[in-house]
Amino acid sequence: MTTESQLRADIVEVGRRMYARGYTASNDGNISVRLGADRLLMTPKSVCKGFMTPDMMCITDLDGKKLVGDRDPSSEMLMHLEVYRQRPDAQAVVHAHPPTATGFAVAGIPLDRAVLAEVLTTLGSIPIAEYATPSTSELPAAVRKYIKAHDGMLLANHGALTVGADLFAAYYKMETIEHFAHISLVARILGRENLIARDEVLRLQELRGSYGIKAPAPICATDADSGDPANCQVVQAPVGGGSRLVPDVIRQAADAGFDGEIRLTYRELSQLIEDAIRSLR
Ligand SMILES: [Zn+2]
Repeated sequence: MTTESQLRADIVEVGRRMYARGYTASNDGNISVRLGADRLLMTPKSVCKGFMTPDMMCITDLDGKKLVGDRDPSSEMLMHLEVYRQRPDAQAVVHAHPPTATGFAVAGIPLDRAVLAEVLTTLGSIPIAEYATPSTSELPAAVRKYIKAHDGMLLANHGALTVGADLFAAYYKMETIEHFAHISLVARILGRENLIARDEVLRLQELRGSYGIKAPAPICATDADSGDPANCQVVQAPVGGGSRLVPDVIRQAADAGFDGEIRLTYRELSQLIEDAIRSLR
């Protein structure tokens, strides 16, 4: 069990990293963690997350009543309380405005395409909660729709929200979202975003168990399968007929009892690559 003083220090450290990486500006963002069964430790209102000290934090109950602290709790406390109500497994909540991910949230583009294996195994998809006025009860209502099935989401025209089994797990998910958003932006600027086929997405989902990843909900492959983002992670992945990004040539050769050298002309290799790309479209 992590002590209260350690959790205060951890919030300070997470805030410092968020500010240093540009995920927040000025007094933006907020961080909270469970402190036992019925209390929360939370960042206070109106402080820069890059320059906090452990004594600044507030302790509240699960209804938001302040129990300890010289300052008022975060202006987004209602959103944090709603997350803890909906997700008994969540130990920590992080909210920030990382610029690339928030750009997607402003553009109304969810990060839900099957692009990176690591993101699929950890977060699955990253939907966008509908726009809500910050600090009001609208925001918890918007978050409620997705929080049961997702550990991370964008908040329309606002920022991003993550939860985790501890403070750093929630923070690292925020890093993953921003990193993924940055890579997605670069791929789209380059003009091509090759998606991972649905069969491969389902293989990646099976890896969650072996990596010890406790996802809140399974992946459903596409909207066309009438996946409901309230209870599964909707991922845009093409039907690839079992094809993979890289054809399983080596395994096929081994299965055929052939383990010698493979020689291809440049034209044959180009044809193989073109066929693989075409099968993903
Ligand atoms: Zn915010």
